[in-house]
Amino acid sequence: MIQVAVNGYGTIGKRVADAVRAQPDMEVVGVAKTSPNFEAETAVDKGYPLYAAIEDRIELFDDAGIDLAGTVDELVAEADIVVDACPSGIGADNVAMYREHDTPALLQGGEDADAADASFNARSNYDTVEGLDVVRVVSCNTTGLSRLIKPLEEAYGVEKVRATLVRRGGDPAQTGRGPINDILPNPVGLPSHHGPDVETIFPDLDIDTLGLKVPATLMHMHSINVTLADRPSADAVRELLEGESRTFVIPEHLDLDGAGAIKEYAMDRGRPRADVWENCIWGESVTMEDDDLYLFQAIHQESDVVPENVDAIRAVLGTDDQTASIETTNDAMGMGL
Ligand code: NAD
Repeated sequence: MIQVAVNGYGTIGKRVADAVRAQPDMEVVGVAKTSPNFEAETAVDKGYPLYAAIEDRIELFDDAGIDLAGTVDELVAEADIVVDACPSGIGADNVAMYREHDTPALLQGGEDADAADASFNARSNYDTVEGLDVVRVVSCNTTGLSRLIKPLEEAYGVEKVRATLVRRGGDPAQTGRGPINDILPNPVGLPSHHGPDVETIFPDLDIDTLGLKVPATLMHMHSINVTLADRPSADAVRELLEGESRTFVIPEHLDLDGAGAIKEYAMDRGRPRADVWENCIWGESVTMEDDDLYLFQAIHQESDVVPENVDAIRAVLGTDDQTASIETTNDAMGMGL
């Protein structure tokens, strides 16, 4: 069993811990927290050994009556691999500790690409990270774009991608984020950072991205235009995307008219935390105009990177090939809406 540590048990970390626990070949050896908040309490209830991320704060856990298994240093020493899901920038700072212990680590998409030895998306470049010390699982938006681009590239060739990303202002629990009544070009200049980020996965891709921020917390929405080398029919593209395990092509009859309805559907389907791990592509939106493909897809920012982290563990440690890992992850999590 692969012993996995999770350092940073917030939005992404707690989801990754649960997904790891569901795998037949992995165990959560422990999770590290900075404070004894509601997530620490829940981690203990779930039976995850809890470690103090910052030694000076051990007293806070003692005061709250929460038992600790040790410090993050001890956790990293014990693990075969660490998933770092700390806030942006802190992951990069933690790399020295992981290297000191010779423990491979996964960083998240909030870190700069050069904080890691390589960037990762399971569908696109699984085979490139085996044996590396530090690998970055790309952000929610970059994951969503990569999952779409890879099959299109394989099937038809991609000449150019233009993507407008309508981004949620913050996650539901992020009380300090916004806007609360505005629509912001964000960034105002082009490209947004997403295009260059996608190029960490597809170095030769021609891609332009634009970003906006809106008062929503549920999901991101992408308006996509891909100029293809071939001219497939819209039906053929739709069928291609329906055949992918982490893209959900929304059938018309479900009447899912937006992110709110998708999240409601996820709740009705009993998804943990109403998570939507798949790219949600509106089937009706898949349109070809000459060699230009157009479509809309919604991306659940809090959860689409979770299965990617699970696959990255196997890819880095070299315990399974791409097909086997993706299948195992999908089966264990219950992928497919
Ligand atoms: P978060 O704030 O929800 O969770 C981070 C957790 O790390 C918190 O529990 C925080 O207390 C803890 N923490 C802070 N300092 C720490 C330290 N020194 N050691 C250990 N833990 C520490 O953040 P998040 O949304 O889970 O984001 C984590 C990473 O994932 C970031 O790189 C982010 O860019 C990336 N990411 C976030 C999203 C998203 O939409 N939330 C999507 C994809 C990728």
